[in-house]
Amino acid sequence: MNKILIKNINIVDPIDGIKENFDILIEEEYIKGVERNIDSENSLIIDGKGKYAFPGFIDLHTHLREPGFEDKEDIESGSMAGVHGGFVALCCMPNTNPPLDNAGLIRYIKEKSKTCGILDIYPIGTITKERKGETLSEIGDMVEAGAVAISDDGNWVTNSLLMRMALEYSITFDIPVISHCEDEFLVKYGYAHENSETIIRGIYGRPKEAEIIAIFRDITLAKKTKGKLHIAHLTTKEGLEIIKKAKEEGVNVTCEVTPHHISLTFESILNYDPEAKVYPPLREEEDRIALIEGIKSGIIDFLATDHAPHLKFEKEMEFEIAPPGISGLETAFSIYYENLVLKNNLPLKNLSILLSYNPAKFLKLQKNGRIKEGFFASITIVDLNKKWICDPKKFYSKGKNTPFKGKEMIGKILYTFVKGKMFCFEYELKKEEKK
Ligand SMILES: [Zn+2]
Repeated sequence: MNKILIKNINIVDPIDGIKENFDILIEEEYIKGVERNIDSENSLIIDGKGKYAFPGFIDLHTHLREPGFEDKEDIESGSMAGVHGGFVALCCMPNTNPPLDNAGLIRYIKEKSKTCGILDIYPIGTITKERKGETLSEIGDMVEAGAVAISDDGNWVTNSLLMRMALEYSITFDIPVISHCEDEFLVKYGYAHENSETIIRGIYGRPKEAEIIAIFRDITLAKKTKGKLHIAHLTTKEGLEIIKKAKEEGVNVTCEVTPHHISLTFESILNYDPEAKVYPPLREEEDRIALIEGIKSGIIDFLATDHAPHLKFEKEMEFEIAPPGISGLETAFSIYYENLVLKNNLPLKNLSILLSYNPAKFLKLQKNGRIKEGFFASITIVDLNKKWICDPKKFYSKGKNTPFKGKEMIGKILYTFVKGKMFCFEYELKKEEKK
């Protein structure tokens, strides 16, 4: 039997908080014991002293690019990037080519991810056929095939009637509708946040109002239908306020943020750096601070990545034409840890709530999200003191596009266990020490 014993580790439990110097016994795919001083014969022993064990991270927002854009990323490379970043499960967005708008393609993703056997992949189907925003996809068929949510991510569903119907179906099939909130017409010609500084530089804007209006409409429809709405990559203070109020009124709405929106502002693009080009765009400092406050107060439910890998040459194009997105899976944890825990005193426990526990509940994964006997042995082990330099050449992702290149990061993923399967990245540190 395959047995692994992690000794003397600090467990970051979303409910109980930090439990110091515990042992975790893994047998096959499950956690068999979480106690002090476990003895186990014939186990592989891992010394956890001074390290931290989180319930494995789950990303609700990843672009795996397969099918159609396998030169940017595929299921295998994206999965490896995931475990390298501490993730044990990913939800992949359907803006592929062809888009994931039918049961056959949902099944294809499920089967391919099983064949790869790296981590768990939960596909998201489109809201509308071909993501055209004209007619609804066969939602029931996709859910039966394994879709966990629907989204036209990359685009907002402009047609309010279709969005209303999608939210009504979200009740029937008990899945969330994930909305990319940017009013299509307001952002049509823009490629960065709109304010006096971007206007002066001749950069066409994607104004805040595009997000605010979109969130307001979607929440209005969620209220009417009682459907299950999830707002992807929230960026504005005003949007956050609308969500807060809706939650107080009992609307069924959740939201997520990305590492870049809580750590960077529009200033990163003032030199026309395509690496910092993202949609929705990087906003103002007051928005960034508001998002961090929203995380601390619990209005924001999840920390996602919006991992969006692109080819090198694409990001070398001019700012206006370079595609938006950041390859984010392998830097997400460190960015969140630095900006939320170290700089803003978010309790460490909350990271495991936002990165593991809440996403597991959202996806109805009953054996994920905690480090407890009987749960899946899906665990992320981190050295929180270890500093490392972000070098995209070391990414497992095919996408090397990141504005964090060369940045000193803190908090290094040492091991990711996916249902008992061990991925070890400790050797990277040893390699660096030798140099
Ligand atoms: Zn999006």
